[in-house]
Amino acid sequence: MRADAVIVGAGIVGAACARALARTGMSVVVVDRGAPASATSARGEGNLLVSDKAPGPELDLALLASEHWPRLAAELADELGAAFPAVEYERKGGIVVATTEAGAGPLRDFARGQAEAGVEVRDLAAAEALELEPHLNPEITAAVHYGQDAQIQPVVATEALLASARRAGARVLPHQEVTGALRDATGRVTGVRTASETLHADTVVVAAGPWSGAAAGALGADLPVRPRRGTVLVTARMRQKVFHKVYDGDYFGATQSTDAALQTSSVVESTPGGTVLIGSSRQQIGFDERLSVEVLAAIARKALRLFPFLETTPVIRAYGGFRPYTPDHLPVIGEDHRHPGLWYATGHEGAGIGLAGVTGELIGALVTGAEPPLDPEPFRPSRPSLAAHLAPEGAA
Ligand SMILES: Cc1cc2nc3c(=O)[nH]c(=O)nc-3n(C[C@H](O)[C@H](O)[C@H](O)COP(=O)(O)OP(=O)(O)OC[C@H]3O[C@@H](n4cnc5c(N)ncnc54)[C@H](O)[C@@H]3O)c2cc1C
Repeated sequence: MRADAVIVGAGIVGAACARALARTGMSVVVVDRGAPASATSARGEGNLLVSDKAPGPELDLALLASEHWPRLAAELADELGAAFPAVEYERKGGIVVATTEAGAGPLRDFARGQAEAGVEVRDLAAAEALELEPHLNPEITAAVHYGQDAQIQPVVATEALLASARRAGARVLPHQEVTGALRDATGRVTGVRTASETLHADTVVVAAGPWSGAAAGALGADLPVRPRRGTVLVTARMRQKVFHKVYDGDYFGATQSTDAALQTSSVVESTPGGTVLIGSSRQQIGFDERLSVEVLAAIARKALRLFPFLETTPVIRAYGGFRPYTPDHLPVIGEDHRHPGLWYATGHEGAGIGLAGVTGELIGALVTGAEPPLDPEPFRPSRPSLAAHLAPEGAA
């Protein structure tokens, strides 16, 4: 089979890339070794956050995403019609709190730095925070409001992006693992192999989430994307008691840490279905899928510091997934400078749902030579901060 582009992975990032490329008129094939939208993109929470990002390239990408999602959600709704489930986009805003005296100053300083970088953020007096979130622990020591934080339903969003890509001509091949690359005499990647297909394409995009390192390896390239485990608790349905994304300031430290050991921080939000999602943990333990009581207890304990009422709320289930982690905490978006024809759209760690749409737009622009929506340099595989983690030129 021949196409202009093959995308490895039908999670939210692969779906967004497929849509963006297919809408430029390219023929696109998406290959997934499992079912579409069933891996990491079905194991997260759906936060579209600017609040947790320090000034720099990832915040720039998140600010762009925060402008882009309302447009994207409206386009998908128009295109797919009322019969397709809604992506549940809601710009509900985020409230970040400190629960200790020592945490109050750093929280406000962080917010000031973000405001200078264009984030809509304001300090809240304790009384105002309690007015916005009446069930919040009154003992909080500081609170900050972020107007741009939003939420979507990640599985529906992935399916909607794939449906839109299909309408633009993309084909999706489920249950086919990509196992090798096709190369021409110069070494340029010209397609991929699966057990049953040979797919020729000038552009191959690896969007294989936490398995991107392994997928790149199968294609003869090395890429330092590793799994970072995360676990979420889900409560029974209730009358709405949590109105924003509410989390404790510890979360910044956990997202930016390179520490492999268990870290937990509290992120609490309600869903349109009436459940409350309580996240989350971060741990580098390979692809170990077991749920750990120690982790569940640590997440629950921290959530009670934010919302004491949760103590008597039943937890109906817990689930976990693997964030696609990169050692310099930035997604990898662009062509591999060592392997022409091989592209990456991966490594978004805990922000891949929020950043998928703009990642697709960036890939679409870079592949076709159009004006990119933001400076692509900080995300390229050749960036200096990733160099130390890559094998020498040409080696796999
Ligand atoms: C607990 C938790 C909470 C999270 N919360 C949020 C959040 O609130 N907001 C947010 O933005 N992000 C969140 N994330 C992160 C987010 O879920 C990920 O960044 C995102 O889903 C990554 O999407 P993806 O398309 O890159 O990967 P995936 O969804 O994993 O898709 C990759 C696909 O590639 C396929 N694949 C792998 N290898 C091959 C191969 N060799 N051949 C063919 N196919 C292959 C897999 O089968 C899979 O379907 C969370 C993650 C976790 C674990």
